[in-house]
Amino acid sequence: MDDAERGFRQSLWAATVGENAHTPQLSGSHETDVVIIGAGITGLSAALHLAEKDKSVIVLEAREIAWGAAGRNGGQVNPGWKMLPSQIRTLYGPKRGDRVISMVDGACDLVFELIDRHNISCAPRRAPYFRAAFGRRGLKEVRDWVAEWGSFGAPVVLKNQQQTHDLIGSSFYSGGMEDARGGSLQPLSYTRGLARAALQAGAEVFSQSRVRQIDRVAGNWRVTTDNGGQTIARFLIIGTNGYTDELWSGLQKQVIPVASLQAATEPLPAEILHTMLPQGHHFSDTRRDMVYCRIDENRRFQIGGRGSPFDPVRQQAATKHLQAQAVKIFPQLNGINWEYEWGGLVAMTKSHAPQLIELGEKAYAGLGYNGRGIAMATMMGKQMAELVMGEDVAMPCEKLSPIAFHGLRNLGIAWHMMVGRTLDKFM
Ligand SMILES: Cc1cc2nc3c(=O)[nH]c(=O)nc-3n(C[C@H](O)[C@H](O)[C@H](O)COP(=O)(O)OP(=O)(O)OC[C@H]3O[C@@H](n4cnc5c(N)ncnc54)[C@H](O)[C@@H]3O)c2cc1C
Repeated sequence: MDDAERGFRQSLWAATVGENAHTPQLSGSHETDVVIIGAGITGLSAALHLAEKDKSVIVLEAREIAWGAAGRNGGQVNPGWKMLPSQIRTLYGPKRGDRVISMVDGACDLVFELIDRHNISCAPRRAPYFRAAFGRRGLKEVRDWVAEWGSFGAPVVLKNQQQTHDLIGSSFYSGGMEDARGGSLQPLSYTRGLARAALQAGAEVFSQSRVRQIDRVAGNWRVTTDNGGQTIARFLIIGTNGYTDELWSGLQKQVIPVASLQAATEPLPAEILHTMLPQGHHFSDTRRDMVYCRIDENRRFQIGGRGSPFDPVRQQAATKHLQAQAVKIFPQLNGINWEYEWGGLVAMTKSHAPQLIELGEKAYAGLGYNGRGIAMATMMGKQMAELVMGEDVAMPCEKLSPIAFHGLRNLGIAWHMMVGRTLDKFM
């Protein structure tokens, strides 16, 4: 088992998920309206929305459903992007920006609507997202969020230090803000549920079918898998995010894949449980070396944060650092056993905004969720499905623009982490 496979198999989610739908390997030749590469949230949301509109759809997945970040993430359905609405307006201009803001505003609702409509069993919980502020810089960040999203009518409330302590059970932070649009879920179950819904709507999903080649043939897209299976399609959608390989020239360099790690404890004893996140909030903090935490439906405390950009040994050290952070924030965790450790890749973009790329005629890629993909990848899949249906969508289509000096990214990330940790100590 390689490290990437271990990162999937050893997760809390793999240990608590129900059965997977049977999906065969692609063999022989097929024809379809739309071929989708990647069976994560993006690809499966696109497949579901297209199949519901009577398009024939084939999804091709290199490993198995949700093998990428979709099946490994923190399960936090977080509202918004890592940008303020004013920054979205600056990026796209006021008119387009306002359409994007309204789309982003509805992304968490879309997740919970799909769960309800398709009866997806994934421990969904509609409890507010909390952003815990660290120092003056953090307080400014949460104030800006509340002021800006509040002006769009979002249910956001600023909290002082005492209120923050009461809501999360830690006096580590100087304050924070609560955003009621969020929620949480079991991400592997959610993504497998999307796959089931897509299959029931008529989509076909193939696993162990890595796409090796894409050609334009007589106005169609011809997609060839590792073992020689082929699909001819009028439209092509790529949803490979942080796991993008060399299947489309330049796409891999559109994002920077960054390791993110998770750890989960044994089920917490009642006397500790009632002192932490008593109202079911999940949170992330504002530090550069940020962490994000929640308690799952089986009473396990779960923390996530940055991994090392380098080898597995450093990954173990990064996990230990994460567990030490947990005890620093919640001293009541001292002595509690850690039972699960896992990780995966998030895809960062230059602008910090997700991207919908028009790769060519009738060919799109949606990626770059910057670590906030449960809601936005679900929405991106829907947006790409609507594009295929000829609809006018909020997300602007961009051209491929690979990141310069992409090969030096690991050094850049390591530098950023080191400087970030130092600066956090002074803020
Ligand atoms: C540890 C971790 C914690 C996270 N926590 C959160 C969180 O709490 N909240 C949140 O909103 N977001 C979180 N994220 C981010 C979120 O998981 C992602 O943004 C989201 O899963 C992206 O979904 P996706 O479908 O685009 O990509 P992925 O889920 O990564 O799926 C891409 C798929 O493409 C397949 N693939 C790649 N190349 C090929 C090929 N050539 N042929 C066929 N298939 C291919 C891969 O095998 C993979 O299954 C986290 C991510 C990680 C890694």
